[in-house]
Amino acid sequence: MSLDNTIIAIPFNKPYMTAEEMAYMTEAHANGVLAGDGLFAEKCHAWLEERIGCKRAFLTHSGTAALEMASLLVGIGAGDEVIMPSFTFPSVANAVVLRGGTPVFIDIRSDTLNLNENLIEAAVTRCTKALCPVHYAGVGCEMNRMMTIAQNHGLRVIEDAAHGIMARYRGRPLGSMGRFGALSFHETKNIICGEGGALLVNDLKDTDRVEILREKGTDRSRFFRGEITRYTWQDVGSSFLLGELNAAFLLAQMQAAEDITIKRLAVWKNYHDLLEELECQGLLRRPVVPEECSHNGHTYYVLLPDRKTRDRAINELQGRGIQCVFHYIPLHSSPAGIKYGRACGRLSVTDDVSGRIMRLPVWVELTFKHVEQVVAALEDVLRR
Ligand SMILES: *Cc1c(COP(=O)(O)O)cnc(C)c1O
Repeated sequence: MSLDNTIIAIPFNKPYMTAEEMAYMTEAHANGVLAGDGLFAEKCHAWLEERIGCKRAFLTHSGTAALEMASLLVGIGAGDEVIMPSFTFPSVANAVVLRGGTPVFIDIRSDTLNLNENLIEAAVTRCTKALCPVHYAGVGCEMNRMMTIAQNHGLRVIEDAAHGIMARYRGRPLGSMGRFGALSFHETKNIICGEGGALLVNDLKDTDRVEILREKGTDRSRFFRGEITRYTWQDVGSSFLLGELNAAFLLAQMQAAEDITIKRLAVWKNYHDLLEELECQGLLRRPVVPEECSHNGHTYYVLLPDRKTRDRAINELQGRGIQCVFHYIPLHSSPAGIKYGRACGRLSVTDDVSGRIMRLPVWVELTFKHVEQVVAALEDVLRR
């Protein structure tokens, strides 16, 4: 991420690996099965179904691919609108545009930075087909309200839980509440396999179509189960499976998920405690986690007083070897957002937060000393 040659002592992210990934990959190698839906993939599916409580889970080669599947499954087509935040990654917007639909961007809440549930109904039109809440930083959206609104207006809910593994809203795992959920196992997420993701299916009605869609539009899954003697092209589809070597890697990560989450939460809490005073003095704002949410330590961010201070802080910390980064550039005012999407109302919180947010390094092996160093450097920058 750094464009100059400063030596980075504390990178923003450092992928954590347990001792088991290589052992499992060696086992997959020895098994000689490298395509998707092998033994390791099956174990990953079972882990997700048990931990998240979704009806079915399917590994994909990315979180983006899972969102594209959801868009296909919901049946987004020309003229359909999908309500989503502008303060997010472009994946879900792309998934809608690729089907010929229109992303409709609404503003976020100023506390959690999640989609503002109070603005959804004003954005609903006769063309609205789906709602895509994004659980920012692993903190759950106000799902009770959103599910009620969705039900009242006949909208399908696709949860973007790319940040959300191991996190809960009112005791319910993120990704288990909408019609579909999407997870990401990209290197920058909590549980990783390089590039990877999962589609979570919460209604068994969808299973048959998912199986066909992900196997290039064929009924190969049924063939492999011995239910039919040959497989043919049944419907539109694509290739959405994750290869077995990645699934082997991922299983090791899943088995360490609890440990990884506990360690990330400890880093998060250390920042939160050490930054309390700076917040009291009005130098920054810390993240807000509503009582009904238990998060997963995916991200620690601060909101600085203005864009100038934020940009200066990023640069000066970089100069000291500490890599802090901004986050989403709003989609509604981006070149593709203007071309393909539509903003509903003024997105003032999105514009404001995007200019003031700074994310601090969070990774499993980040020590308390590192955290103290980051906080001390930040304090120094902010007091000058
Ligand atoms: C990472 C991310 C994605 C995309 O996941 P990939 O696995 O990188 O395709 C989608 N949405 C959000 C909110 C993300 O953070």
